[in-house]
Amino acid sequence: MEPKIATIGLDVGGTKTSGVLLSPEDVLRERERIPTKRSSRESVVGGILDVCERLSERAEVLGLEVAAIGVGFAGFIDFSQGLVIYSPNLPIEDLRLKDVLEERLSMPAFVDNDANVAALAESRWGAGRSVEHMVHITLGTGIGGGVIIDRQLYRGCIGTAAEIGHIVISAGGPLCFCGARGCFEAMASGTAIERMALEAATANPDSPLARLRDRKGHLDVQLLSEAAREGDPLALDIFLQAGYSLGVGIANLINIFNPERVVLSGGVTNVLDLLEERMQVAVKEIAVKPSRESTRIVTSELQGEEVGARGAALLAMELSGRFPVPE
Ligand SMILES: [Zn+2]
Repeated sequence: MEPKIATIGLDVGGTKTSGVLLSPEDVLRERERIPTKRSSRESVVGGILDVCERLSERAEVLGLEVAAIGVGFAGFIDFSQGLVIYSPNLPIEDLRLKDVLEERLSMPAFVDNDANVAALAESRWGAGRSVEHMVHITLGTGIGGGVIIDRQLYRGCIGTAAEIGHIVISAGGPLCFCGARGCFEAMASGTAIERMALEAATANPDSPLARLRDRKGHLDVQLLSEAAREGDPLALDIFLQAGYSLGVGIANLINIFNPERVVLSGGVTNVLDLLEERMQVAVKEIAVKPSRESTRIVTSELQGEEVGARGAALLAMELSGRFPVPE
């Protein structure tokens, strides 16, 4: 009898490390989630190894052979070497994660950027499954991206391509954590929307918007969206600005890649209704007509907290050579 094969996928983020044991065709067998222990490099790696070991033990109980491990890591990754160059949110620099995993778990491991594995999952199972060329944009606290060309991830020469959060859409604009100004991420992410809301609240201390700040002075996107839907003009204006910036970023990507689909995912898509009109205005103004007319901007079709980990497990499946890869 053929051994039943599965892969382990991990999504390592700034707050949590999620893992899945996945059979072919996206059949979720087991899951595991822990807070990312971000106090040190050793604690982050220890957490990753723990999750992998627990999932391999369960695979054994289920009679499954784990063919490979895939990791989607929030950071800059040298894919060819499985090296985490650095992570903006975790105390990790120059970590040969592929080697660590292969040595400890004695199976092939593949390490990629978290936004890339999300794009891969969307391309195979989600809104991009019927198309050859797709740009996937994760709109959350930051902006991540993945580019699919001819149904394959485009990684560039070392694997750090598609850092679309850091394409500059407003030269000299607000400072981004990367050190540049006016990045897409600094103009249209959840963090950017919150920053604009706080600036507006500070400038208008007697406004209803100013009263939405919590005790720590934060003002989250969800509360802001409720205010906008109730007609608060300051809140609405922030979404108009962010929506336009979102459209500028998307239009640039359409001009470069001429994708069939631009797929939007992540927490900020919950407020897409407030962003969409100005987003479309910017796309119409900036994207060249033939490319614009051949593109559809849609939201992700993948649900659930494990999307990133499932994408990483899919990466491991495709690269392990043990599973059929779609044409
Ligand atoms: Zn940046």
